Parts: sequence; structure tokens; C-alpha cells
Amino acid sequence: MPHRAPHTTSTTESGSFCTARCTCGWRGPARRARSQARTDAERHLADVAAGPGTGADPERPLE
Ligand SMILES: [Zn+2]
Repeated sequence: MPHRAPHTTSTTESGSFCTARCTCGWRGPARRARSQARTDAERHLADVAAGPGTGADPERPLE
């Protein structure tokens, strides 16, 4: 079973703000500049590429 979720990011404009989002459900903060939203998306991709262990999701319950 593949553990990897596809991460495809895109930016969505809402009013004068731009938000980065990913197919995995991740969403970045609203930014005024699309370039900033793209930076958020690239950072998200870098985070998931780094894999679990570093920067674990704080909202994930421990088992
Ligand atoms: Zn993602």
C-alpha cells in the first residue's frame, strides 16, 4: 500500500488574497502576493519530502 499521498499544489485567489493549497488537504495562509503563496506551497512540498519525524503534525493524536 503506497504511503505517499500525491502532493499537487496550486494557488487560489480570493479577493485580493492568494492561498496555496494541496491535493492532500493542506492549505497555506492567505497571502497578498501570489509569489508568497507559491513559496508556502514549495515549503509544504519540502516538508512532506523530508518525511515524518521532523516537523510532525502537532494535531495528530499519538497512539
Ligand atoms: Zn500536500
